[in-house]
Formats: sequence, structure tokens, C-alpha cells
Amino acid sequence: MENEPKMRSVEEQKGRLPVASGGPVATIKEVCAQWLEQGILSGIMMPAYSIKGVAAPVLFTDPQIVRQSGVPFLPAMGVNTASVVDEMRFSPAPGVKVGVFLRPCEARAVVELVKLQQVVLDGLVLIGVDCPGTYRTADFSELLDGAVVDFVNRFLQDQARYLNDERFRTACAMCEYPTPLVCDLHIGFLGMNPGEALWVESRSEKGAELYKTMNVEPVPVPESRQLFLKDFRAQRQSRAEERIKELDAKALGPENLVKYFAACLNCHNCMKVCPVCYCRECFFESEALERELDEVVRITRHKGGMRLPQGTLLFHITRMNHMMTSCVQCGICEDSCPVKIGLSVLFKKVSRNAQKEFDYLSGRSLDEPLPLVTFREDEFRTIGE
Ligand code: SF4
Ligand code: SF4
Ligand code: SF4
Repeated sequence: MENEPKMRSVEEQKGRLPVASGGPVATIKEVCAQWLEQGILSGIMMPAYSIKGVAAPVLFTDPQIVRQSGVPFLPAMGVNTASVVDEMRFSPAPGVKVGVFLRPCEARAVVELVKLQQVVLDGLVLIGVDCPGTYRTADFSELLDGAVVDFVNRFLQDQARYLNDERFRTACAMCEYPTPLVCDLHIGFLGMNPGEALWVESRSEKGAELYKTMNVEPVPVPESRQLFLKDFRAQRQSRAEERIKELDAKALGPENLVKYFAACLNCHNCMKVCPVCYCRECFFESEALERELDEVVRITRHKGGMRLPQGTLLFHITRMNHMMTSCVQCGICEDSCPVKIGLSVLFKKVSRNAQKEFDYLSGRSLDEPLPLVTFREDEFRTIGE
């Protein structure tokens, strides 16, 4: 299947993790606190939510602080955690091992960054979690009606509402990958009764180290989970098709594309937050684009007037061209756009089409070479014929 990971390094172990009386969030926090206490991990990066309304990934080293403040499965997303991993430029350090909680789109972005030689996996243990959707941080603050952990426990339980939740971020409403494709350890809840048990899989030697501390009862994947995921993916795929059709009606063709981006401020937020936008120096932020006044006036004379800031469409087309094979469809670009340009659906369409052409899926496997570094003499033979 297209969304099945193409590489698994060790025989997978899987089963159900009984949930303690405090609920699924407290159960996983306790497991993490013990990993720190026992020195199995040196640090854990997982989402947290502050009473001031900030949802962000936090690196914890103190087990007590994880118990107090960590919120695994937090359905609020302001950054793609892969960007944070990239920013910290994790490189191997003897004896240091950090577990990183990642939603599926975040895990896919980490895989792309590894292949783009921006992230080294040696000191990291990737802990992938199920994700049916996330809210923008501001929307989450409005929804929150009490303690955050109680909210998340209810959110994990109330699975019937996921497909109709209109407050999910735009990208999430179209997301076809609710389970991580590549990770060391996978913790899931979809199609389970998370008040009773969570789903755990170890997929590598690093994952097996954590798995063996977790008291997992080995069982085959429950039928309820298989059916839930099958139906969920099908519905999300059909939602994605609908949204792409709406996009085509609005944005196909050069003139419509210009209109689509007409409100763009050229702020480059979409580029700065993109987890897989990897160039350390961007041409569009370089001196190469600076112009002397007399030159600008001379160029403008051809038309008599020039829209400023200039070059917005060129920026987007170039970015699309660079990103389309590694884009993980996380939609953080759209959430960061001050004028709300529909970047999620645009990148969904462009990246899906481009990746399909190369029989590639971003983040599916560490072993699949990036299309942009692979030359096949026989590809695209129909172009120009
Ligand atoms: S895009 Fe998918 S994986 Fe990422 S936050 Fe949304 S639903 Fe979760
Ligand atoms: S282009 Fe947008 S949707 Fe694609 S990876 Fe970057 S931020 Fe995510
Ligand atoms: S974030 Fe929005 S306004 Fe800023 S450059 Fe990107 S599309 Fe344009």
C-alpha cells in the first residue's frame, strides 16, 4: 500500500498498553518520567500547554516536570516539531539520547530532513503518535474549558467527532496519514478505547529498548482499529479530492494563480515555518534581489506601473518547485500566513501530484532516495514529444 512504510529494520513487536486510572495522558507521562528517572533517555521532547495559552514542543529533562507539564497527544499545533529538531541541529553526542514525540506529518518531515542531511538520527528516538487532527493554538485556547489534560483525555475518547470537526486546521481536515509512517516507537489510540488501553508498536532496536519497559500485552492489531483507520483514511481522501476540485475551479491557469496570491505580503512566513524548506540561505532573502531606484523605475516604464512588493508569484512558484517532493502536507505554512492564502490545499495538490510522478511519498522511508538527487534516463519521456 502507498502509505505503508517501505523499510522496517527489526521484527516489529506490538500490543496493548493498559491505561492507568489517571487516563491515557497521565499513563504516557508516567512512562516518560520513568525513562528519564532510569536514565533510559536523557531528555524527552513532547508538547506542552501553558496557562498563558502557548502550545509548543518542550524538551524535558526533569521527570517531575514531565509529570506536571507534558501533554502527549496535545491536539494544538503552532509549529511542526521537525523544524525545532532541525533548528537544534541534533548531532550525536556520546551517551545523550532524546525521545521526540512526533505527529505523523512531523515524523515524515524529520525523515525528509535526514535525507536532506539536516538532521542526524543517532541521538534521537522517534516516538510517533496517532493524530486525527490538530487545532491552531488560538482556536484551542477558545475550546479549552478546564484543565488541559482532562480536555485531551476527552478528545482521545470522543473519536466519532474527528471527521466532522470543522475547527481542525485546514491541512488536518484533508490529512490521509493519521498514523506515523516511520518511527522507532509508535503509540496509538485510534480505533481503541483509550480509557482502557493504548496501542504500542516497536519498529527498531531503539524502539524495542523503550517497548520492553512498558508492560505491553502482545496482541494482534484489534479489528476495531483496523476498521477505524480504513474508514478514516477513505473519508479523508475523499475530503482531499473535494478540496482539490474547489482549488482547481479557483486557481487553475496563470491569471487565476495570480489572483490566488494577490493578497500575498511577501513576508516569507510560509517559508520560515516550513519544516522541509532547508536552504540555509534563501535566494529570495538575498542581496541578489535588491534593486537600485533607477533600475526599478526603468523596469516599471515598460508597463507604466508595478505592483509592490514585487516578485511574489516568482517566490511561490520557486518555493513550490523546491518543496513539492519533500512537502509533508502539514499546513503550517497556511496557519502562519497573515492574509490566509490557501496554501494547504495548494501544496496538497502540487506535492501529491509530483510525488506520484516519482513513485515517492515524502517521509515514507529513510531508504528511498530523494527524487531530486536521482537521475533516471527513462523518466518523463513524453515531455516534448
Ligand atoms: S496534518 Fe495530519 S498528522 Fe499533521 S497535525 Fe494534521 S492530522 Fe496530524
Ligand atoms: S510547504 Fe507547507 S504543507 Fe508543505 S511541508 Fe512546508 S509548511 Fe508543510
Ligand atoms: S505567509 Fe502568506 S503573505 Fe507571507 S509570503 Fe507566504 S503566502 Fe505571502
